[in-house]
Amino acid sequence: MPQYRVVNSDQLQTFTNGYFVNNIEFDKQHIWHPYTSAVNPLPCYEVVGAEGVELTLASSEVLIDGMSSWWAAIHGYNHPVLNDAAHKQIEAFSHVMFGGITHQPAVDLCKTLLNMVPAGLERVFLADSGSVSVEVAIKMAIQYWACQGRPEKSRIVSPRNGYHGDTFAAMSVCDPVNGMHSLFEGVLNKQIFAPAPQTRFEQTFSEDDILPLEDIFEKHHHTMAALILEPVVQGAGGMRIYHPEYLKRCRQLCDTYDVLLICDEIATGFGRTGKLFACEHAGISPDILCLGKAITGGYMTLAATLCTEDVALGVCQGEPGVFMHGPTYMGNPLACAVANASLSLINENHWQQQIPAIEKQLQSELEKCADLPRVADVRVLGAIGVVETVNPVNVAEIQRHFVKQGVWIRPFGKLVYIMPPYVISAEQLSKLTHAIYTALK
Ligand SMILES: *Cc1c(COP(=O)(O)O)cnc(C)c1O
Repeated sequence: MPQYRVVNSDQLQTFTNGYFVNNIEFDKQHIWHPYTSAVNPLPCYEVVGAEGVELTLASSEVLIDGMSSWWAAIHGYNHPVLNDAAHKQIEAFSHVMFGGITHQPAVDLCKTLLNMVPAGLERVFLADSGSVSVEVAIKMAIQYWACQGRPEKSRIVSPRNGYHGDTFAAMSVCDPVNGMHSLFEGVLNKQIFAPAPQTRFEQTFSEDDILPLEDIFEKHHHTMAALILEPVVQGAGGMRIYHPEYLKRCRQLCDTYDVLLICDEIATGFGRTGKLFACEHAGISPDILCLGKAITGGYMTLAATLCTEDVALGVCQGEPGVFMHGPTYMGNPLACAVANASLSLINENHWQQQIPAIEKQLQSELEKCADLPRVADVRVLGAIGVVETVNPVNVAEIQRHFVKQGVWIRPFGKLVYIMPPYVISAEQLSKLTHAIYTALK
């Protein structure tokens, strides 16, 4: 292994021999990135600053961010209120174990969350990432039934095209094709998959959408612990937007057949779809709710699994009487403090004007993409805009185009999509939609 000295990109010209490499080159040789090959990675861009809705690259190019760093940075980058919360907490204490200890940032966060979420959710488990919050939700559901003397109720049902994270239990309920289940056959739990709902948000609900799921409930309810789904918007499993009536029917089926409903709002939570939580489009409340991503405004990793009093009591009755889960960084005070600042910004309710304005603009400006021969579909809900292409896009090539246009958009497969920070201006948003149009023209 050579002794590397990593230098800044601006020194690229100065050091060119094998031992002195710039950041991009070192990265390419040694660092894994999400969903890529280590040996033949896609090109990477080095960010040296982020402010408002703009990312600054080492090359000095400034890009308008269309991704909110994967649904998270909803208030924009380098936000004074979030910075201040982080600074204040770091001066007090950054972390203490949560076993046997509590603290103001965690108490404040859980109070605020309980005031925001749909009715009936009473207990909060603080997890350290979205995937872990899904693990916790699934574990709760299975333990709940085991503690009722019904251990055979252990399988999880999920619509296809779902995405719930990359850890093993979460992966087992992701879309079996996108989630590459064949690769992990024999290791992944065999869950039950229903066809993905087809009725679009704005269409009249078709009963055909729910029939296959009704059939599954009828046949398998005695072995089913929970139904897990992303309410109204399926994210990384296909960026699909479906009719809220489907969600309403899911709630009814769960009630009728004694199956818990887990709503994964890690992507949709905190205003993104035009409601504070996507569940509200259907006026339902889940038994278990997963939150993450935007909870800290994109500052650091934190997630939460909330459940009803009934689920909490059920999980903790009889033997073993406890819930055996406790991440080292559970309730991290620094993350909780920033989350409290992020939620206080959300609770100022500017999103209630911002999201409909973004939605309207996305609808009018992305519409013309539908006429392009390379485009199969355009769909918009809240501050989410999706252009689905006929064939998968060349990510490296299209990304180069986007960077040249001064925008940051990261497509995958056939999906060119944006979910910008809520604070984006109309001109900035136009640059994003224009870049998508010109990329696909
Ligand atoms: C991102 C995401 C997850 C996983 O969250 P991580 O923090 O990446 O582990 C789970 N479910 C949904 C719906 C997501 O969008």
